[in-house]
Amino acid sequence: MDFRFSEEQQQFRMELRAWLKDNLERSWIEELRDPDNDEKKLFDIRRSWQAKLNESGYLGIHWPKEWGGRGLTVVENAIFAAETIHAPPIASRVGINLLGPALIHHATEEQRKRFIPKMLSGEEVWCQGFSEPDAGSDLAALRTRAEPDGDDFRLEGQKVWTTFAPWSDWIFVLARTDPDDRYGGITFFLVSLHQEEIDVRPIRQITGESEFGEVFFSGALAKREHIIGAIGEGWKIAMTVLAYERGSMSLAHLARFDHYLKDLVQGVREKGTLKRADVREKIARLLVEKEVLRANGYRTLATLASGQAPGPEASLEKIFWSEYSRRLADEALDLLGLQAQLLVRSPYARPHMDWAQEALYSRAVTIYAGSSEIQRNIISKRILKLPSS
Ligand SMILES: Cc1cc2nc3c(=O)[nH]c(=O)nc-3n(C[C@H](O)[C@H](O)[C@H](O)COP(=O)(O)OP(=O)(O)OC[C@H]3O[C@@H](n4cnc5c(N)ncnc54)[C@H](O)[C@@H]3O)c2cc1C
Repeated sequence: MDFRFSEEQQQFRMELRAWLKDNLERSWIEELRDPDNDEKKLFDIRRSWQAKLNESGYLGIHWPKEWGGRGLTVVENAIFAAETIHAPPIASRVGINLLGPALIHHATEEQRKRFIPKMLSGEEVWCQGFSEPDAGSDLAALRTRAEPDGDDFRLEGQKVWTTFAPWSDWIFVLARTDPDDRYGGITFFLVSLHQEEIDVRPIRQITGESEFGEVFFSGALAKREHIIGAIGEGWKIAMTVLAYERGSMSLAHLARFDHYLKDLVQGVREKGTLKRADVREKIARLLVEKEVLRANGYRTLATLASGQAPGPEASLEKIFWSEYSRRLADEALDLLGLQAQLLVRSPYARPHMDWAQEALYSRAVTIYAGSSEIQRNIISKRILKLPSS
């Protein structure tokens, strides 16, 4: 495997760096520190940053040109993700990273034309309606029903933990079109959230934000023309979405961890504890694990770059980066002491790193996109071919 970037890829990186210098006025952490920026304003900043990126062709970098992409490869897309870690996250992250690939693989030409341009521009923000109160890890247990109504369908049921639901315009929903067929009875619908028959209730998180919510459907309209794939093919399409969710962000995680580790070392140096053997050992371990992550990330990237969809190997990476995230944040809180526990708007917090948020949010990363236990089950069954019982 060749770990070097080509000349064209290096050139892309340099152009992007120059573009960011001219276009990124304030880093995301500066926006977060600004007391005038409430949750709504922060979301607007994300939306306008997304629009700016799209106008300059920096979204859907590896998507075909005819669907609004730049026609490059997953490698340039990964370079983009790594170079922009200090920029605001885009508003329609869920749409572009998860639904986008599913539309490209499974939607009709008409559906792509209808949904992709507005998804890229941020005019329509998307959320993912898969999980339900009794269907998380066991997603096929989902019970939201889609009942035929003339040509279309009506949805009844509830989704939960829906990221960005309070800010979204559309939701992609897995709903049951056949109650008796566990996998073949699930259909993939694109549904507008702007209807009276849908109630979105924000959920307040440990971080203080309400980034996600519950979504209640009581007779909401789900149009037949907005079904992706055929009726009953929802499970297959959902698996494409989940594989992308698990495996496609490796270089971005790596760039973030590079930045975090630098801040950790700097903080420890400021505290005067960097020379202690136990501290050095902990930091060395984190550094080595980060390099393992790099090798894993390059392997996934090579698979994607050769045109293959991410397979069960994406689970290896998901476990590694998510559990690393938690270890790194926990060690940082331990090694940096009280300063790392201050919220970002405190004048005494570390200026370039929000450790408190990172430590709290890292509790979630081993749960979403499939918990660590579920990833281990996938690895044991599908990679190691171990028996189920
Ligand atoms: C920050 C965040 C954002 C999210 N965003 C979205 C979103 O946008 N859209 C969406 O649809 N969902 C979203 N989710 C939901 C997420 O997909 C689920 O939380 C996840 O799949 C786990 O399901 P659960 O919470 O119902 O836990 P459960 O499935 O009830 O699991 C509880 C515990 O049991 C363990 N467990 C369950 N089954 C097994 C098994 N077979 N073997 C071993 N252990 C097992 C799990 O690992 C876990 O520790 C989000 C979750 C988080 C934390």
